[in-house]
Amino acid sequence: MVWNGSSDMQILSRLGFTNLILNMTAHDDYNNNEYYLNLYNLNNNNRLLLSHCLGYVKKNGRYLSLTETHQLICKNKIHSSLIANNPVNDVILTSCIFKYLLRSTNTTNILNLI
Ligand SMILES: [Zn+2]
Repeated sequence: MVWNGSSDMQILSRLGFTNLILNMTAHDDYNNNEYYLNLYNLNNNNRLLLSHCLGYVKKNGRYLSLTETHQLICKNKIHSSLIANNPVNDVILTSCIFKYLLRSTNTTNILNLI
């Protein structure tokens, strides 16, 4: 599982990593400041597996960062003090967002979508 991981995919490929890689992004799909949390299968032409609308966010640019996305969806006070771009924190924040996406889309088994 990676966050905005197109460059991660290139690195993992060069390292010979062939396992399943899922990529999450929070993107303004329609250029109207309404952001969608999307899950893609990077091993299958970046196929969209899940999508959930996060709502309107006033921001320049079409991607939300890991921290911005996490702040939108998580009320856990312990998580709120975590700063992204630290490998340990990034895993915690990405995991939290992934669980939110599964709950929001009523997905119980991600393998059924792949
Ligand atoms: Zn959280």
